[in-house]
Amino acid sequence: MATTKKDIRALSKEQLRDFFEKQGDKAFRGNQVYEWLWQKGAHSFDDMTNVSKETRQMLEDNFVINHIKVDTMQRSNDGTVKNAVRLHDGLIVESVLIPTATRTTACVSSQVGCSLDCRFCATARLKRMRNLNPDEIYDQVVAIDNESKLYFNRPLSNIVFMGMGEPLMNYNNVIKAIDKITSPEGLGMSPKRITVSTSGVPKMIKKMADDDVKFNLAVSLHSAIDEVRTTIMPFNENFPLEDLREALEYWYAKTKCKISYEYVVWKGINDSQKDIDALVKFCKYVPCKVNIIEYNPIDDGEFQQASNEALENYISNLEKNRIVVNVRRSRGKDIDAACGQLANKS
Ligand code: SF4
Repeated sequence: MATTKKDIRALSKEQLRDFFEKQGDKAFRGNQVYEWLWQKGAHSFDDMTNVSKETRQMLEDNFVINHIKVDTMQRSNDGTVKNAVRLHDGLIVESVLIPTATRTTACVSSQVGCSLDCRFCATARLKRMRNLNPDEIYDQVVAIDNESKLYFNRPLSNIVFMGMGEPLMNYNNVIKAIDKITSPEGLGMSPKRITVSTSGVPKMIKKMADDDVKFNLAVSLHSAIDEVRTTIMPFNENFPLEDLREALEYWYAKTKCKISYEYVVWKGINDSQKDIDALVKFCKYVPCKVNIIEYNPIDDGEFQQASNEALENYISNLEKNRIVVNVRRSRGKDIDAACGQLANKS
């Protein structure tokens, strides 16, 4: 039966201190419990061994700890690890550990399914069921940090919000999760090692700039021509490139942080000189770099990776215009863990 008890991890440290005071206990007990929840990763009240049995029972009577559970874990031939994560209500999201020689990156989900409808993306086929809570996002990161230590003998070094969902459509919870990840009472990671990747929601990009966030911003651009972008990312009709450009200019004016554009080149869709010229022009509005990402086909075969010649053409045109460009080979393709492939198939 569904419980109506509140998830204790939705409480701030202050709220926990208040709770204990109202129970006639000492406020510092709240600090102790908070430490168990966030630094020691307690999964049950019984784990809190320096808290009295009566207090643990009282917590049990009032709260639950809705920890995520890694349901299945798959390892790719290239070392990539994909977790199918079960949430307290039985829904599943996926997160991925991507190792390279020098770093381990966690790619985490922010929603169950997605509210947007990018045609090349497997997640788009799952309708958005709900937003993830801050602790559900945080737990994905902790799970991957543990796997990184276990399999690669080093802690997690970077986080990208590029898993399932549009993070800016779950803005408040993503920000709360990042606060916890960067807090010394959480994982203490530098915000400079975190990248939020959006498909480009202009209003929310401006809000992030106003909120003076310290993490990096990436935009899944894929085309700098409205008609083409609307074909592959239909929400572009409501958030056209001119609005995106204005929001990005606002972001840069406030934060002075360069933007990364994520860009996949597809055969017959955005592989012409006209597409390249439009991207070069768009890149001149705001300091940026371009990440050209290898495409990972999903089942229907509608989208195909462009030829090497088309990719080379993109790279040489961008470099000629002094725009930094990286080519990202995809990882974890054999376990459907690569970009755009997350769809709860495991
Ligand atoms: S690419 Fe991102 S924003 Fe677009 S449908 Fe997939 S998960 Fe949603």
